[in-house]
Amino acid sequence: MAENTAGHLPQLITQVVSAIEELKGTYSGFDVHSSLKANPEDISSVLKELTDRLDNNFPYFHPSYAAQMLKAPHPVAVAAYLATMMLNPNNHSIDASPATTIMERDVLKQFAAMFEYPEEFLGHLTWSGTTANLEALWIARELQPTKKIAHSADAHYTHSRMSEVLGTTNVSIPTEADGRMSLDALETELKKGDIGTIVATMGTTGLGAVDPLADILVLAKKYGARVHVDTAYGGFFKLIAENYLSPETARHYAALKDADSIVVDPHKHGLQPYGSGAVFFRDISLGKFYKHDSPYTYFISDDLHFGEIQLECSRAGASAAAIWATLKLFPLTEDGLGKALIPTRNAATSWYELISQSDSLVAYQKPELDILTYLPKVSSMSKLDYVSHELLIQAAQGERKEQIHLATYVTKPEQLKTRGFDLVQDAPNARILRSVLMKPEHETWVPQIHQKVESLARTLIG
Ligand SMILES: *Cc1c(COP(=O)(O)O)cnc(C)c1O
Repeated sequence: MAENTAGHLPQLITQVVSAIEELKGTYSGFDVHSSLKANPEDISSVLKELTDRLDNNFPYFHPSYAAQMLKAPHPVAVAAYLATMMLNPNNHSIDASPATTIMERDVLKQFAAMFEYPEEFLGHLTWSGTTANLEALWIARELQPTKKIAHSADAHYTHSRMSEVLGTTNVSIPTEADGRMSLDALETELKKGDIGTIVATMGTTGLGAVDPLADILVLAKKYGARVHVDTAYGGFFKLIAENYLSPETARHYAALKDADSIVVDPHKHGLQPYGSGAVFFRDISLGKFYKHDSPYTYFISDDLHFGEIQLECSRAGASAAAIWATLKLFPLTEDGLGKALIPTRNAATSWYELISQSDSLVAYQKPELDILTYLPKVSSMSKLDYVSHELLIQAAQGERKEQIHLATYVTKPEQLKTRGFDLVQDAPNARILRSVLMKPEHETWVPQIHQKVESLARTLIG
């Protein structure tokens, strides 16, 4: 029988909950206040209602879910998070988290080593990729208050939103037909002399395109700009870049070590639950910008507290513990966590091959990582909109065991044209299909997903 979890979660949960209860029992006993007590039957029935309500979800954990950038965390992360959360350390200060602050330092070193960053760096975990990027953009503004921030048109939408928060001006650089930032357009912008920081995205959220970092760094040097790399989604592909990505993509991954700052999201490809981002700076002297005085925290230890070098205050020690435990089992090597990325990459390339031979589907562009975008072979934008939408709906209908979940991606008619598609332009936007194949199980599921999508496309094209 197929198993739906990678590990025996109930046993793991029992192990850690018992251990933490035992730990609590080593202090003197106390009576929990009556105000916190509830009838055990009521608690149980609320929790039953909760788990019943959670049935109202798409199966993010399942390989039949080939849609958005969502997946379940690894059971070891769940157990480690739960165990730590029972004590609830706060990685803001060492006093509030002696154990998990050390774990965080440990995982940060591992991330920095993955990027081939210098041994001395400035960095910490965050709640999310957005807060991590906000921090990098904030430093960019502090360093060059009057300069602009450039990113590609396909950069994550939060970059322009955070620029608004920071009061900086951002410039959107067009992309090429492969979804990568146009170097010519970037250079034209740099020549104007007012770009302070360039944001390169290694793995755009929509298309999984990898901006040409190695070449961007050369241009940045020539025009005196800094480079921030947003690898929220794509960062972990560094582990397999050399042997499993195209040589061109690998060349850009190898350039990560020279970036001024880097953001990565362990909740994307690091097997973690949400509440998990990370930011790194090459120049440790940037720590000076974080200077603050807090009357609320008691920094007993002389060591650097994360609260002194981050924008956020409270942050879950549980999140650091979950990453730490996960990396013990799946270290940041090609043979470790890399083994979970190789099949996701294979899933994207093998589905791309199948689609290349299809009579009813065509790829929007060649996948660089594990996101595949594709569309039904139709002759007009309006038909494209209709068929893509219907296909998504119909694939997800019927018995749960038969369902396939896909996502759509809205692109511009010019973008389709750039990629060589010649469709009658009778609609303002072009809706295509998008599948993030980020679960290693996708590798073996691709043939059956393809078969269903292709046969639906055939029928719908009519
Ligand atoms: C997911 C993502 C973000 C935003 O990160 P959150 O953790 O969702 O806040 C930013 N940039 C890229 C490239 C992403 O993929």
